[in-house]
Amino acid sequence: MTVAVVGAGLAGLSAAWKLRQAGADVVVLDAGRHAGGVIVTERRDEFIVEGGPDGFLASEPDIQELAREIGIGDHLVDQVARGSTLWTGGRLETLPEGRAAELLGIQGYGNVGGFRSFAGGMADVVDALVARLAPRLRTTQGVTAIAPAARGWRLSFTGASSLDAEAVILAVPAWVATRLLAGLGVSAARALDTVLYAPSVTVSLAYRVDQVPGTLEGAGFVAAPDSGAAVRACTYAWRKYPKRAPESLALLRAFVGLVDGDPFRSGPVPSTGRERCRATRAGMPSASRQSGSDSRDLRRWRSRVRGSMEQGYRRA
Ligand SMILES: Cc1cc2nc3c(=O)[nH]c(=O)nc-3n(C[C@H](O)[C@H](O)[C@H](O)COP(=O)(O)OP(=O)(O)OC[C@H]3O[C@@H](n4cnc5c(N)ncnc54)[C@H](O)[C@@H]3O)c2cc1C
Repeated sequence: MTVAVVGAGLAGLSAAWKLRQAGADVVVLDAGRHAGGVIVTERRDEFIVEGGPDGFLASEPDIQELAREIGIGDHLVDQVARGSTLWTGGRLETLPEGRAAELLGIQGYGNVGGFRSFAGGMADVVDALVARLAPRLRTTQGVTAIAPAARGWRLSFTGASSLDAEAVILAVPAWVATRLLAGLGVSAARALDTVLYAPSVTVSLAYRVDQVPGTLEGAGFVAAPDSGAAVRACTYAWRKYPKRAPESLALLRAFVGLVDGDPFRSGPVPSTGRERCRATRAGMPSASRQSGSDSRDLRRWRSRVRGSMEQGYRRA
């Protein structure tokens, strides 16, 4: 059977891998220039900087089984520093485990036994899947429409080319799936358009370890909703997972002004280029101040993943 998988994020790549294992003839199509979707790992000068997710729940077996299947089981790494603190607006206070996730609006995390990641960052799993699927993966192939064909479906791309497949898997953001399914007359697909996404803006900052206070506890902090902080949360990346920064350097990753408490009321923030720049500028000194670091960072990286964080559903 010929299957077209639309979207080469982790969901699409994993689906394609499983289909290949089951003997299907698979082609993976992605609109972007690279596979991986919201997984964006930058490796440079011994830094491993994550622009998207930096790990997964240790209690979640699927990704770990997948890693073993594709030969990178030995890349799995455990979270080293555990626990989070709360930025009250004036100081950092200890938080019970699971409370940080709640404050960030992530449900069902509770006390889940921490997180895991990969030695070379989250892109390890993407790289391994891409290597195994390479001849079947086509990037810069944005699917614009799907229509019934004699034996299955015809997918159209930007640039007027097309491809026929007996089956199609959509592994794209909900707003893209809505459009593709609506074109097929699937009226129930409108419900997908109610999924609310917010952009994620992260600023990663490198310091010398002696610029960062030795009293920092755990793997990061979350800002109290009433703290007025520009940085909503910050991960001490160099302490959370092994080898995220060169020896004697520290790496902080700050989530900048995502939402103002109620995503339904305020909508994704920041949404325009100007707001983003302002938030990023505010985020840098704020991340330093909130963590108590000397504000002169040695290096910085900024990453914005468009409409990447599912925040729930829009109220009808
Ligand atoms: C900052 C951040 C932190 C996160 N942290 C965690 C975490 O700690 N733990 C955890 O479990 N999860 C986390 N997540 C969530 C998790 O990473 C994502 O849910 C998951 O990676 C999404 O994968 P996906 O394949 O579904 O979608 P995506 O990664 O969004 O991939 C979708 C793909 O579809 C492609 N596409 C879009 N339109 C088209 C089209 N028309 N034609 C063809 N291709 C198209 C896109 O280019 C993209 O490559 C985090 C996410 C972010 C952004």
